[in-house]
Amino acid sequence: MSSNPFSAPLDRRASVAVDVGGVIVGGGAPVVVQSMTNTDTADIDATVAQVAALHKAGSEIVRITVDRDESAAAVPHIRDRLARLGLNVPLVGDFHYIGHTLLKQHPACAEALAKYRINPGNVGFRDKKDKQFIEIVEQAIRWSKPVRIGVNWGSLDQALLTRLMDDNQKAGSPLSAQDVTREAIIQSALLSADLAEETGLERNRIILSAKVSQVQDLVSVYMELARRSDHALHLGLTEAGMGSKGIVASSAALAIVLQAGIGDTIRISLTPEPGGDRTREVIVAQELLQVMGFRQFVPVVAACPGCGRTTSTVFQQLARNIEDDLRANMPVWKEKYPGVEALKVAVMGCIVNGPGESKHADIGISLPGTGETPAAPVFIDGRKSTTLRGPRIAEEFQGLVADYIERRFGQGG
Ligand code: SF4
Repeated sequence: MSSNPFSAPLDRRASVAVDVGGVIVGGGAPVVVQSMTNTDTADIDATVAQVAALHKAGSEIVRITVDRDESAAAVPHIRDRLARLGLNVPLVGDFHYIGHTLLKQHPACAEALAKYRINPGNVGFRDKKDKQFIEIVEQAIRWSKPVRIGVNWGSLDQALLTRLMDDNQKAGSPLSAQDVTREAIIQSALLSADLAEETGLERNRIILSAKVSQVQDLVSVYMELARRSDHALHLGLTEAGMGSKGIVASSAALAIVLQAGIGDTIRISLTPEPGGDRTREVIVAQELLQVMGFRQFVPVVAACPGCGRTTSTVFQQLARNIEDDLRANMPVWKEKYPGVEALKVAVMGCIVNGPGESKHADIGISLPGTGETPAAPVFIDGRKSTTLRGPRIAEEFQGLVADYIERRFGQGG
């Protein structure tokens, strides 16, 4: 009997589970969404506000820059202020160059953070590199914290890269410079993880990342890193860029790797538009995981792209309103209506695909296209339920969605 071609299992790679302030990363746990602030951490008010916004948008872990004494001193206050707001979000300290000193001189900071991010490319230079790396690891051991060994293409360990380039030159059939660089990124992560373990940090306190800025580099590097190690992996395309380019590049790269079962936590590194909303990166990360079927965060709104059969923007506006409404209500609805994130809503522009798509959704509306009778049939659980007419179609449909949610996911549902 032939096997079913549509039932290939999506196996996740086995990785070591790491507890990051109560959030489990790896070990088969759902892929965790994280983000990073862009406030000056020393500005406690601004940082608390942004961490709160990122967490409320769905970031399960938030990273903050710890670059000097003032930032390190602010960290415990930020943690406490968030706790008073009822937000117990794990905070990760992003350290470069002087992390070893800051963690030693600010024990309250070391204690307040849920994880330390170390970049092996700039933890120290020449003979100080291993010494300062070990000092951070010792702080992690002292405070029982995990670390992320986060290699970054832009700050790659130059001594390691030079050595691999020299070895490659001497090899009979040398690799390309790009391949040697990819190898250096992987080795930087793995050798640093070995050093952390030799220092005494347990394997279940180590997460690795190897961020690059090009899609094909990211795919190659993570595929190979996953082949050589069972450490939990943090995925992210660094310097992804602004707007649609950043979203497309990150999604393309991460989707390929996630589909191969690789990756335990993700961050989408978008450059915000001037004055733009930092929470965008969280929404994109959630949407990526949700459209790929790995997690469910908010109800899905299926909307057609529109075409020459629709001359008004009513359905676009309605789709936007419904989506905004659902996302805005989710923090409350998650508590009040368990399972509501699985809801599927359809907003369609005309009769061609409208009724069909609407029937596939839990609740859907097919708006009238050009020349059609000004009536909008609504489908609930695959059957036509009612037809809306007149200027208040949008409001009435939003009301029907709210009623449906109450009926199906409410306590009496
Ligand atoms: S459902 Fe109708 S309006 Fe929407 S894209 Fe298809 S044909 Fe065009």
